[in-house]
Order: sequence, then structure tokens, then C-alpha cells
Amino acid sequence: MSYLKNNKYISSSNESFRVIRKCSVCGKKAIFINSNKFRVNANGSRIDVWLIYQCKKCKHTYNLTIYERVRKDALSLELYTGFIENDDELARVYGRDKSLFVKNKAEIDLRSGPRY
Ligand SMILES: [Zn+2]
Repeated sequence: MSYLKNNKYISSSNESFRVIRKCSVCGKKAIFINSNKFRVNANGSRIDVWLIYQCKKCKHTYNLTIYERVRKDALSLELYTGFIENDDELARVYGRDKSLFVKNKAEIDLRSGPRY
């Protein structure tokens, strides 16, 4: 079983999901891609974290909520530092996490994303 899992991992692509949504600047549906950057907003002991997506054409941004008003101490220092420093690999991990898009009710471009 673990052997199969490994195989699956090796053959997967690293591509983040793309999102289809109406861009208010372009005035029509557009493709948004992972900017591989986070936005962190601290409010007292609570923080919000977003993964920033950008319209492929005009770079208008769209933020996907990763954490909403969570206690800062609920996150590991490693994770928190990754958000603050825009850790590229961490951004790609979230960009491939389908549950994040489901939670945000974002429409995934079915031609994108990791392949197994
Ligand atoms: Zn646009």
C-alpha cells in the first residue's frame, strides 16, 4: 500500500489549481493563478491568513481564506514563519489542496491542478 502511495506521489505534477471567477477589472470570467504569496493580518492575538491568487490577465487579486481569526499560538512557529516569509513551497502545498477551494467556494479550472 505504501509503495503505491509513493508511486502516486512521484508521478504527480506540482501545478497549483487555477480558479475561474469573474474578474471585476476584466469585467468577465477570468483565470486566476496562484501568486505563491500569502497575506497575513494580525488583529490582537487573532490572525487571518490568505493565499493570494491573481487574474492571469490583469493581476487583479483574489484572496483565498486559509485561516480566519485563529489564535496566533494555535499555529506552529514553522507554519507562521512560512506565511510571513511567503514560503514558496508552502504556497504550492496550499495551491494543490482541493479542500481549500471547496471551503472558499471557488470554482476550480478542471484542466489545472496536480495530476496523479
Ligand atoms: Zn482581470
